[in-house]
Amino acid sequence: MSFTLAIVGRPNVGKSTLFNRLVGKRLALVDDQPGVTRDLREGSARLGDLKFTIIDTAGLEMATDESLEGRMRMLTERAVQMADACLFLIDARSGVLPADEIFADILRKKNAHVILAANKAEGKAGEAGLMEAYSLGLGEPIGLSAEHGEGMSDLALALRPLITQAEEEAEDYTPEVDVDLPDDEDEDGEVEVEYIPPTRSKPLQIAVVGRPNAGKSTLINKILGEDRLLTGPEAGITRDAISVMTEWSGTPMRIFDTAGMRKKAKVQDKLEKLSVSDGLRAVKFAEVVVVLLDVDIPFEQQDLRIADLAEREGRAVVLAVNKWDLEGDKQDKLKKLKEQFGRLLPQLRGAPLITVSALTGRGLERLHDAIVEAHQVWNRRIGTSALNRWLVGMLEQHPPPAPQGKRIKLRYITQVKARPPGFVVMASHPDLLPASYSRYLVNGLREDFDMPGTPIRLFMRSQN
Ligand code: GDP
Ligand code: GDP
Repeated sequence: MSFTLAIVGRPNVGKSTLFNRLVGKRLALVDDQPGVTRDLREGSARLGDLKFTIIDTAGLEMATDESLEGRMRMLTERAVQMADACLFLIDARSGVLPADEIFADILRKKNAHVILAANKAEGKAGEAGLMEAYSLGLGEPIGLSAEHGEGMSDLALALRPLITQAEEEAEDYTPEVDVDLPDDEDEDGEVEVEYIPPTRSKPLQIAVVGRPNAGKSTLINKILGEDRLLTGPEAGITRDAISVMTEWSGTPMRIFDTAGMRKKAKVQDKLEKLSVSDGLRAVKFAEVVVVLLDVDIPFEQQDLRIADLAEREGRAVVLAVNKWDLEGDKQDKLKKLKEQFGRLLPQLRGAPLITVSALTGRGLERLHDAIVEAHQVWNRRIGTSALNRWLVGMLEQHPPPAPQGKRIKLRYITQVKARPPGFVVMASHPDLLPASYSRYLVNGLREDFDMPGTPIRLFMRSQN
């Protein structure tokens, strides 16, 4: 999971404006219809070379019985809990108001990592407010203008150490440069004890996402079949998640039910937008994301966005083309679908594409098998010696370039994590290695170790 930053502060200080600026077009998940928005928005943010997840707490208009203050408090507390750090915004033009003090208190009590910023600080009108912000006792405030894009490099400066620290803490372990074979490897270098199949207490978590009317409910109901709801729909597996537990062809699975959620919300319009935010939560929940496409309108913008998000979040992805029963020329259609897939979702290279009919049940066995296989691949661990033998071959076949006359030596590779598979390569001058070479290695790993449909992470580390 990526580093998560929550933007908190009283209404009107510019939280949404900043959110939109940082998220850009990557997830324009703006939905201002009262009562429809879930109260916390999330998006993938980018600031210079920093990438992180951002949560916006601006959804205070939700109709509830509580007081504004109560709702602010609750939302903020939730956001703080979910986030690695908080960006606390005040309005530089109005200075520090009593409501700001309330937020400062919450943040202090929760012991949150806080970056304090005075927004609307463009021009002279903001100067006094910026100075006043010191009085909150949360350190030096950054002057920002979310609207005009000012202060963004100061924000990046404040964020970078927090992100670095969080990443270091999240790292499973630092690889030891040690070419001795670990004990659990056989001669081929494959790790023997690798995949623990899903159990009732640790079911395979899947999410079925896709545009409205793609057939998500139909598919989930078909899967549940006679076994219907071993534990019933329940909230709270992850925050707000609604999931159902079932055993699908012998595999214990927990299915995140976005369709059911929508029905629960009793929302008839704006289905399009809502399903995007549902999808976002679903992706966070899932180990394997099933992107359900409608055969009549496959690879819609929305499908592409959610598939891309799943990849970036490191989830295994299976594409399922639904309503296959309606298709006349199946051969021809399949060819077209494969072509579109390769062109529109190159980042998911090798992910399975399964044709199904949720209505008749055809293809569901194959879908099940593809999900289980994707899960296995996602969990895969490859032995260090096999990896290093492979690396030697890759280097011989296609040596790394020597930019600026410096030879880049790739010395050693090891897998540092699974779910999804992550590898570290020790190299001299890793910063000089072109992205194309990393892609060559990733594609090679994918093909030679048979890891279709899973994101593969490759980290370069410096070692001379
Ligand atoms: P939120 O309620 O905290 O999400 O605040 P909004 O993002 O909706 O912004 C509230 C108002 O402040 C809007 O009218 C914005 O256009 C305005 N605003 C946001 N950022 C800035 C800024 O940097 N400078 C100025 N002058 N106005 C801003
Ligand atoms: P959701 O919005 O993604 O949950 O979609 P639904 O499950 O509600 O399905 C939308 C419509 O498509 C319904 O009328 C379904 O009967 C229909 N549908 C779903 N799956 C199939 C299928 O495999 N074949 C056909 N012909 N229709 C389907």
